[in-house]
Amino acid sequence: MAAKVAYVAVENAILHFDHAFSYRIPEGMNVQPGCRVAIPFGRGNRKRQGIVLRIGEEQNADLKEICELLDHEPVLNDEMLRMCGFMKSHCFCTYYDAVRAMLPAGINYRLSFEYAVSGDLGDRFYDLPDEWRRIVTIIRSKNNKAERQVLLQELGLSDSSILDEMEEDGVLKKSDTALRKIGDKTIKMIRLSDESETLLHGMKLSQKQESVINLLSTVGSASVKEVCYYTGVTTSVPDTLVRKGIAVYFDDEVFRVPQYNASEKRDVTLTDEQQKAFDELSELYESDSPEVSLLYGITGSGKTSVFFKLIEKAVADDKDVIVMVPEIALTPQMIAMFRAHFGDKVAVFHSALSLGERLDEYKRVSRGIAKIAIGTRSAVFAPFNNLGLIIMDEEQEHTYKSESKPRFNAKELAKFRCSYHKALLLFSSATPSVETFYYANEGRYHKHTLTKRYGTATLPDVIIADMNEEIAIGNTGAYSNILLQNIEENLDTGRQSILLLNRRGYNSYVTCNSCREPLSCPNCSITLTYHSANNRLMCHYCGYSIPYQTQCPACGSHSLRLRGTGTQRAEVEIAEIFPQARILRMDTDTTMTRSSHEKKLTAFANGEYDILVGTQMVAKGLDFPNVTLVGVLNADHMLYLDDYRSFENTFSLLTQVVGRSGRGKNKGRAIIQTYTPENPIISLAAQQDYDAFYRSEIGIRKAMLYPPFAAICLVGFVGENAKLTERAAFLFTQQMTELLKNEFVDIPLRVLGPSQAAVFKVSNKYRYKLILKCRNDNRFRDMINRMLVQFSSIREFSSVTVYADMDPLNL
Ligand code: ADP
Ligand code: ZN
Ligand code: ZN
Repeated sequence: MAAKVAYVAVENAILHFDHAFSYRIPEGMNVQPGCRVAIPFGRGNRKRQGIVLRIGEEQNADLKEICELLDHEPVLNDEMLRMCGFMKSHCFCTYYDAVRAMLPAGINYRLSFEYAVSGDLGDRFYDLPDEWRRIVTIIRSKNNKAERQVLLQELGLSDSSILDEMEEDGVLKKSDTALRKIGDKTIKMIRLSDESETLLHGMKLSQKQESVINLLSTVGSASVKEVCYYTGVTTSVPDTLVRKGIAVYFDDEVFRVPQYNASEKRDVTLTDEQQKAFDELSELYESDSPEVSLLYGITGSGKTSVFFKLIEKAVADDKDVIVMVPEIALTPQMIAMFRAHFGDKVAVFHSALSLGERLDEYKRVSRGIAKIAIGTRSAVFAPFNNLGLIIMDEEQEHTYKSESKPRFNAKELAKFRCSYHKALLLFSSATPSVETFYYANEGRYHKHTLTKRYGTATLPDVIIADMNEEIAIGNTGAYSNILLQNIEENLDTGRQSILLLNRRGYNSYVTCNSCREPLSCPNCSITLTYHSANNRLMCHYCGYSIPYQTQCPACGSHSLRLRGTGTQRAEVEIAEIFPQARILRMDTDTTMTRSSHEKKLTAFANGEYDILVGTQMVAKGLDFPNVTLVGVLNADHMLYLDDYRSFENTFSLLTQVVGRSGRGKNKGRAIIQTYTPENPIISLAAQQDYDAFYRSEIGIRKAMLYPPFAAICLVGFVGENAKLTERAAFLFTQQMTELLKNEFVDIPLRVLGPSQAAVFKVSNKYRYKLILKCRNDNRFRDMINRMLVQFSSIREFSSVTVYADMDPLNL
């Protein structure tokens, strides 16, 4: 006889046994694809969580059975299940890595045991060994229900062997329930029961009980809190009514919508140029297979206004919309604007939300209450059923790529979802990635262009300050004279300035005058960075820190010197020069706390500060009309990184930060400080000439065989033993060469390496890399997947982590 079978992907699987396992579905269990289940796994039949990918029938009835159904409704629909498969093959991860990325953390169950004391223990208690009696007493003190982990911790035990003995002996009972990690946030509600009328007939009631019943018969149901508030009773009164069967409690879920001040709702009338782009996009949106579009417009041209109108259209159409933004610092302004227009239809997804909030937003989307999801890259997983439009603002930003498992690119997943729903995918940028612009020019994407700034605003004048000349006249500080003059002018006229430094604590390291060694992290091959806020030297990779010191650990001499300019030093320096200025610093050190971005940006917008100093995050998206000066303290830092994207990234950053200036009535100005003023990237960014930049860059990419002319795949090797890690990297390369010669001769491939990673040691782990220039197609991915599976089963290298990263951020 054929048995009903579920094909289940299991959590914590390693790559070489990550496939769908068959389990028999017990009689009467309503298992559906997309539901999570608890299953016995492996030789020991330990319980694990899994997700049902498919359902089928098998003749072989000799299968293990599912123990428990964890979801009564699927948590993943057909589209999401397919996306799991897509991610597995494209991101080289397991099914469950993909599942985990899709579901909000709060939805996760944890499998656990609870212990209770047997009811019929009676007098036997006094005959038990001391330790057993102690355990019984503890469990009883917890309402006779103790979770295994909690119990072990309290008893100071490392395993549950004693508990198991007690269970065998019949002293304890064990139950394996699936506990929810985080409870849904619910409100306790109360209403009259169906039997209340009959029961109340002739029943004697107190005055308080009567007032509660009266309230409930008027309003139908209410939260217990409200009932107590309006009738002035304590909760014991509703408790009594429920006990008598007159009323019942039920739970209602509240949604904790993140709070933002909705800015004033204003109506947008598009300019002619904007209208044209909008018309083209609407037409595509309405077509049967809209494909991908690029909205390419200079900074301040009103790209947001255009896609805002498009969202309005989709929502009016009863379609769902995802809007992705690269950094959370940009979101408050946009969210406020969206909230003002769409109210509760907006859900927000980003990592700064609490788990409960994320779970709530997820539910608002999956139940169709929210129609628009705004967020960082994880918003691509918003569980909509009727997607009409996905927008990726500043599509070139690297934050759309996940740098940890699963290493997905939100852009690729957005394409997957849009083709599933036949929805429009819109990339928006003033400085698109070279790949995107290439595809737009080749006709693979549609292109819509905005050439003018909105209103009377024009692009700012840009001055390039040659820092070599400053040194020649004896100025060794972080600020050129021309920048200082302009800051002063702005302070005098009450206008605001933004100063950009590329990296937090950038370059503030300590070197020894006598042995010339910089102070480095003992766990990583990287110099320590000085932080004035806590007067410590810190490692940005592993978090190691030591108090600032004056003695060199290498040679013992007392001549350490602080060098370079970090955001903190820049802030201190400018505060010394302009003691009257009100300065706001924004970088990852100062903006760790939730909602502090929003507060700070609001304060800046309200004119509470004169100068904003910060890293990358001050460069992008912000729209402050009173900012008329932008200063870039050191443009060179990014430019000469050893990465094929460093020109693109620098051009984009400079263009964007320059674009923050002069967005309002007053003409803006930007000053870019550099030691290499002759570099064409800097002058092209100064002229905001993306087209010229693109023409030069695409030539380099083609000559050097970089994207879009080849895809890049990085294979990484990480291990505590440097020698073993190196051997793994070499053996992998050798085996891959074999495989290519035998079965994959058709694959075009260039292999670079293996070699040490740029930062060789991080947190005491050594890192090697292998770079493959390839064509990202099924054949190539098959080959890599084969290699990863094959390699992960080699015993000798079980302590070395091997992973593949398509389109990696850093080479
Ligand atoms: P971009 O995203 O292209 O850099 P924004 O969308 O931020 O530009 O627009 C720049 C400024 O111009 C914003 O303050 C925006 O409110 C304003 N703006 C743009 N288009 C319009 C419009 N059609 N009506 C009113 N204001 C607009
Ligand atoms: Zn020294
Ligand atoms: Zn470190």
